[in-house]
Amino acid sequence: MKTSRRKFIFSGVLMSAGTILLPGFLSKASGKIMTVNGMIPSEKMGFTLVHEHVMVDFIGASDASKSRYNVDDVIKVASPFLKDIKARGVQTFIDCTPAYVGRDVTVLKRLADSTGMNLITTTGYYGAVKEKFVPMHAFTESARQLANRWISEWKNGIEGTNIRPGLIKTSTDKAPLTPVQRKLIDAAAITHLETGLTIGVHTGDGAAAFEQLEILKKQGVSPMARIWFHAQSEPDQAFHIKAAKLGCWVSFDGVNPQTLSDNLGYLTTMKAQGLLQRVLVSQDSGWYNVGEAGGGNFKPYTCILNDFIPLLKRNGFTPQELDLLFRTNPQAAFSIKVRRASS
Ligand SMILES: [Zn+2]
Repeated sequence: MKTSRRKFIFSGVLMSAGTILLPGFLSKASGKIMTVNGMIPSEKMGFTLVHEHVMVDFIGASDASKSRYNVDDVIKVASPFLKDIKARGVQTFIDCTPAYVGRDVTVLKRLADSTGMNLITTTGYYGAVKEKFVPMHAFTESARQLANRWISEWKNGIEGTNIRPGLIKTSTDKAPLTPVQRKLIDAAAITHLETGLTIGVHTGDGAAAFEQLEILKKQGVSPMARIWFHAQSEPDQAFHIKAAKLGCWVSFDGVNPQTLSDNLGYLTTMKAQGLLQRVLVSQDSGWYNVGEAGGGNFKPYTCILNDFIPLLKRNGFTPQELDLLFRTNPQAAFSIKVRRASS
């Protein structure tokens, strides 16, 4: 989820910096990813939306409960939106909703089965919004204890099912991170080193992104294991460039009809820098909003297909570059593999 849509500030200096090739970072598509229906080769991901939501509940961790919604109603509302994009070639959908924010893996499994789409779910806790979505036990337990809970979801399945996470999803507000938010990043690092799951972090600003990277480095985790979700919340593209050069995945995942030109700007800068191989693109769209009548105003997942890809093409993005953004990069980003920091 993302609420703020800050204006993109164009940096002419960065644009003129020229293309830098980083062959070591070229994506290799030879891994495996974990879907709600089990492990599949990453090559089978196809066209992928890396950050979307089927359902979100903003009530907060202390009141979150499966009794707050009707599963059949959620499926009835969400199905047509997923079937629509599946029919148009989207094969994989990363549902970035964490536990205590409306994650329900049985809903995702039913939708995967009825649509034929690969759906991926998460483990991890959401620290942003002043820890409103962090469960009580996370305030007292150590990073190791939290990691053990998340590792158990990877090993044994989520909430009594055999459904396993394909992503560690956590989040922080802007820098400086709070002690609990730092602990969540520590726990994510420990979980990564024992599972190989990629760490996706909803991030308030560029300074927070680098504070997180420092924590990961101390834990021995490579920036390549980490996705900076909501990079568009940081308007200074110097941060995006620096992160991508370190090997971090930089995700511009707020594409909607109001942000098309901003996102074109971000991608044009990354392309000029020779860094498209570290970029992900998505919409942060959807979702059945628990607590609102009929799930509220569900935003479709079609802006990238309808508007953004045509806009990229009109601005000189080649079919190979579009393949990189929507196929090759997601395959590499979500492939399960322990990625240690080089010492
Ligand atoms: Zn989101």
